[in-house]
Amino acid sequence: MKKHFTLIELLVVIAIIAILAGMLLPALNQARERSRKISCVNEFKQIGLAMNMYNNDSRGYIPAWNGSLDDGTIPKESGDTSTGKFWIHRLGRYVGNLTLWVCPASPERGVAVAALKDTSDYNNQVARIINYQCIGINAKTGGKAFYNRALHSSRIKSPSIMIYAGDGVGKNTAYYTPANTNDGCYTSMFTYPDDNQGPAWNPRHNNSCNMLCADGHVKNVSRAELKTMLLGYGSTPTPRAKNFYYDQKD
Ligand SMILES: [Zn+2]
Repeated sequence: MKKHFTLIELLVVIAIIAILAGMLLPALNQARERSRKISCVNEFKQIGLAMNMYNNDSRGYIPAWNGSLDDGTIPKESGDTSTGKFWIHRLGRYVGNLTLWVCPASPERGVAVAALKDTSDYNNQVARIINYQCIGINAKTGGKAFYNRALHSSRIKSPSIMIYAGDGVGKNTAYYTPANTNDGCYTSMFTYPDDNQGPAWNPRHNNSCNMLCADGHVKNVSRAELKTMLLGYGSTPTPRAKNFYYDQKD
């Protein structure tokens, strides 16, 4: 006689598969997030190398968010054919790959990467970086100065703790709780040197954030650490948050 599965047996098998899948999925998600975090660290390392090369070629300066070498204090480097003045373009020509500025965990990675491939539109490239949880520069190492002026590395008192760039929130509020209410992780400064407008650092890698220091090393900072680091961050902070201002000693 031909044996068939009963409905109960079938349901039991389905239930067992569901339980196993339920156990496996979180582990898979965690593994995926770990790999994104590591890829992100590698992107920061390459940006750090570009920062060092730029530093060597530009008599010790590191690029600011915007403006940089055209501010009259330093001549434009020879061979610089970039029309953009933004830090991503200043550094991007050393690595030849602007997609390094898109965090692997960005929810809009595809849109940002597509925009960065259009080299005819510098402003759109920058806008995508600003909007979609990419890698942001700390545009506030010395009040508003670093927003549009290159910083000479000799002026940085503690390069190993000063944050040059980090995982940023992006301006698109669909992906974050706006400034001042986002659990203390407020700052980034893709665009604005003004505390009330800037987006924030984003601890999106399992509640941690990757950051590139001025000496080129990359570190992973937990949400709790980030909150502590940000104490004293502001237009006239007292004391100034030492990780974000060039004139602070460790
Ligand atoms: Zn990241």
